[in-house]
Amino acid sequence: MDDDQLLRYSRQIMLPDIDIAGQEAMLASRVLIIGLGGLGCPVALYLAAAGVGTLVLVDFDTVDESNLQRQIAHRTADVGRLKVESVTASIAALNPGVAVEAIAERLEPAALQDVVDGVDLVMDCTDSFSVRYAISDACVNTATPLVSGAAIGLEGQLMVYDPRVADAPCYRCLYEGADDRQLNCAEAGVAAATVGVIGTLQASEAIKLLVGYGESLVGHLLVWDAKYMDFRKLRLKRDPNCPGCRDQH
Ligand SMILES: [Zn+2]
Repeated sequence: MDDDQLLRYSRQIMLPDIDIAGQEAMLASRVLIIGLGGLGCPVALYLAAAGVGTLVLVDFDTVDESNLQRQIAHRTADVGRLKVESVTASIAALNPGVAVEAIAERLEPAALQDVVDGVDLVMDCTDSFSVRYAISDACVNTATPLVSGAAIGLEGQLMVYDPRVADAPCYRCLYEGADDRQLNCAEAGVAAATVGVIGTLQASEAIKLLVGYGESLVGHLLVWDAKYMDFRKLRLKRDPNCPGCRDQH
């Protein structure tokens, strides 16, 4: 690290759990962020601010005016622009030391798995179960850790898959058979800070996994009810018949 980096990251380097070694681990990391909406925006901004070396951004969509209420890495002037371009510009303004690779495509499972195979960690910030299953399968098949967030209305959920932990449940162990309509903000609505809280929790888990301190959420589901400010941490078990991960054990 040079002097500028030591200064920029000084407030987290001074934490014994991170220190110089943890910062260097972050700087050497490649993290994939899929979906640059309400979850992906805070995830991208916090991971860029924290000094993750390379962020790979995936989103085929453009910025719509109705996104601006919660998707905080896009600006009013970005309406109509590709989300990967808008977020790349926000990251460059925040931390020019972060390398960004942008993919403005809807990735089919095989292509998705190729991209997942080249990163240290995957952030699922999407809003469709079919895409979420494909992301989970790619992470299971390539033994890549996954931080998966979801938020709708005034509720949010968070889970972590980590292949390094024995009997870690995957996304399908929990949600197999769920319906796409349960996730879509365009139909159900979502409060601005709800996605912000869950995205920020995703970033917090990501930094922990990259640096390697504490205990991750693996093996649990965090459920947050914003209306009554209730956090619940539920234990999750791997489903031995799960179509996503049964062949890995
Ligand atoms: Zn599974």
